[in-house]
Amino acid sequence: MKLENIVEPLLLWYQDEKRILPWREQPSFYHVWLSEIMLQQTRVEAVKGYYTRFLTELPTIESLAQVREEKLLKLWEGLGYYNRVRNLQKAAKIIVEEKQGIPPHTYDELLKLPGIGEYTAGAIASICYQEKVPAIDGNVLRVMMRLMNSNRDITLPKTKKELWNEMLPILPKEVGTFNQALMELGATVCVPNGKPYCSKCPLQSMCQAYVFQTTDQIPVKTKKKERKVEQKTILIFCNDKEVALQKRNHTGLLAGMFEFPNVEGWISKKEVEEFTRKQGLEPLKVVELKYSKHIFTHVEWHMHGFLVKVEDTCMNYEWVRYQELEEKYAIPTAYKTYKDVIKELEK
Ligand code: SF4
Repeated sequence: MKLENIVEPLLLWYQDEKRILPWREQPSFYHVWLSEIMLQQTRVEAVKGYYTRFLTELPTIESLAQVREEKLLKLWEGLGYYNRVRNLQKAAKIIVEEKQGIPPHTYDELLKLPGIGEYTAGAIASICYQEKVPAIDGNVLRVMMRLMNSNRDITLPKTKKELWNEMLPILPKEVGTFNQALMELGATVCVPNGKPYCSKCPLQSMCQAYVFQTTDQIPVKTKKKERKVEQKTILIFCNDKEVALQKRNHTGLLAGMFEFPNVEGWISKKEVEEFTRKQGLEPLKVVELKYSKHIFTHVEWHMHGFLVKVEDTCMNYEWVRYQELEEKYAIPTAYKTYKDVIKELEK
């Protein structure tokens, strides 16, 4: 098949079928950048609300550069992968402090900003500045491999690089629209899980995977390494008004985030009481909480929890009023089950 033949039908299809999404209304640098960063690892439906709330609070790159980290993390609470928003702010500071508030306009310059990789640079450069570069995400890789009936392994950087070179010559002058159309086709028609909706596809007549009936075998992906499983016991130390929090290390998973105190492994009620006393707290009542599991990219947390009623506070933790926890502190979603217990205490 000739790859350039996909351009026209795809553009026509996108014109009629594209979803109405808030970041498509005014595709400025800030809007496209923010949406692309939010959409990494997160579903479109989940992002919509966050995107609107974020822009209401921080409507400009300047306001993003200046906002306190606490508030920034609170706006991101629930989206996870917090390095994304930290990098967003780092890049905003560079734009404001070193570039007089003017964002870079080219793919190569965009790549120099923290948190902007090849895909995001391609998306911004093509959508905002019509630079003729591809934007290859998982959706595009899948669609293109199916169109060509190619057995290349899409987890290999080499495959992405090859595809980049194959796509460069076919990019039309409406490159931003073309890139978005390909991604949209991958998100809504040539879907990743389950059967693609080939009968609704504008490219069906030229799709080689459709002809050879290999859509269930393509794209080819090597299996990811198995995730490490970690067991943890989460401890909700609370007195009448406050709950104990601690800050995670500044590097690694959930770097620098607040969390509930916890210990490695699953420990018994008796061991919880002993641990509590070691922190200088007297356990008045210990209640076992629900089991909970959270899956990160490379690790799974299997958690048991205890609510430990105490009378006082101690130096080892930061003691936060219940209401403050809700309003000011961003607690990672991994702890949601245990955070919900605090909401019950407030009632
Ligand atoms: S015909 Fe089917 S497999 Fe081919 S691109 Fe369209 S949806 Fe994907």
